[in-house]
Amino acid sequence: ADEETAAKAAARTTDKSSPTIFDKIVKKEIPATIVYEDEKVLAFRDINPQAPVHVVLIPKDRDGLTQLSKSDPRHKDILGHLLYSVKVIADQEGLTDGYRVVINDGPNGCQSVYHLHLHILGGRQLKWPPG
Ligand code: IMP
Repeated sequence: ADEETAAKAAARTTDKSSPTIFDKIVKKEIPATIVYEDEKVLAFRDINPQAPVHVVLIPKDRDGLTQLSKSDPRHKDILGHLLYSVKVIADQEGLTDGYRVVINDGPNGCQSVYHLHLHILGGRQLKWPPG
């Protein structure tokens, strides 16, 4: 519960306009274990994995997409590209028994990095509902 409170506090105080750590990963300025990449998207292993497979998938160009709720019609192509990339990555990761895709949005969603990203979680039995 303390961890959750801290995460929510961080989400509420984050400056949503500045570049994030994910830009540094895109520019290869900080290391990440990249599992998938094409011209538009990049996927890497989460530094704090919540499941045996925990991949973070992002658009390389944030282009205003700090969070899903800030998307507009110009983002429809990249949003579709991201979702299809989930399928490709899940196949590549061997998640044949299923997996979960999560987008945390804003303070109530416990979003901490304001560069749109999809979490791909798998490799164990996940529970529902999430916390
Ligand atoms: P959010 O809470 O949905 O915003 O998720 C951000 C995710 O990014 C968290 O699961 C973090 O563990 C992860 N993360 C933060 N910094 C890094 C990093 O440098 N490399 C890999 N994952 C990171």
